[in-house]
Amino acid sequence: MKKNWFFETDNVVSDLRVGYRIKRKIFSKKTEFQQIDICQTDKFGKILFLDGLTQASERDEFIYHEMMTQVALMIHGSAKKILIIGGGDGGILREVLKHKIEEAYLVEIDNEVIEASQKYLSTISKNSFNDKRVKVYIENGFNFVKQYANYFDVILVDSSDPIGPAKELFSSQFYKNVFKALKKDGIAVFQSGLTILQKKELKSVYEKNKKIFPIVKVYYASVPTYLVGDLGLILASKKIDPTRISKKTLDKNYKKLNLGTKYYNPEIHFAAFVLPNYLKDALR
Ligand code: SAM
Repeated sequence: MKKNWFFETDNVVSDLRVGYRIKRKIFSKKTEFQQIDICQTDKFGKILFLDGLTQASERDEFIYHEMMTQVALMIHGSAKKILIIGGGDGGILREVLKHKIEEAYLVEIDNEVIEASQKYLSTISKNSFNDKRVKVYIENGFNFVKQYANYFDVILVDSSDPIGPAKELFSSQFYKNVFKALKKDGIAVFQSGLTILQKKELKSVYEKNKKIFPIVKVYYASVPTYLVGDLGLILASKKIDPTRISKKTLDKNYKKLNLGTKYYNPEIHFAAFVLPNYLKDALR
């Protein structure tokens, strides 16, 4: 590695590598599941890398964490029981806890991600792990979700890419188990890769869920530190269509909840589901 640069690995998107000029490496450890690195940068604050891939940067994590969370919770409107799979940096948890929920389960396979994030990236988790509504389980989300039926209002799958421990979180069996674990008006959201460079992954998540859920929608957010920016998210719903909620209702609820979001707002909510032709064609 060139002095004071950290280059992403190219084991997910080959032929392209992003490098960050770093001031120093704050944490680095090979755990039972993956390599964890946390680096201090000038432009993006601290960045969490897992197996050499960017997971969250202090500069733009809010975009991803708000869009992964607020779209589903705002259309559900009265979610009480939430399951987060992955999410060890605590960003999704922080967004979930802005709502009047009863229980937030966070199932993370690698406790060392939580420990390192709490210690070095507290600006992201913002003490969320200590909220009394939170229950943390250190186990494989694939096995955890199998134990539940008709229990969760919203399930957010904030997993790393389908290499290493997250591979089985991209399987049809996993999606079927998520469907079973959701209540009759339940909603699931899956981070599904880059719309340009990981179209195959996005299409695969979409098609697998189309066979299981009645409503499956792709939406996206542009996250600068996710390789070339356009991140595809997939919302799978048993009953509620995220694009059919009335704007008036969304505006009213958004104002009432005063979420303090820096990216999500009712206009972005609808705009995120408007897809460019290359994506529509890929999903057809
Ligand atoms: N925002 C990132 C992204 O979009 O790639 C994901 C961030 S979050 C840190 C990803 C987390 O998923 C990691 O902490 C990893 O340990 C966890 N993870 C991977 N596979 C898992 C599994 N099978 N069960 C539970 N957690 C898992």
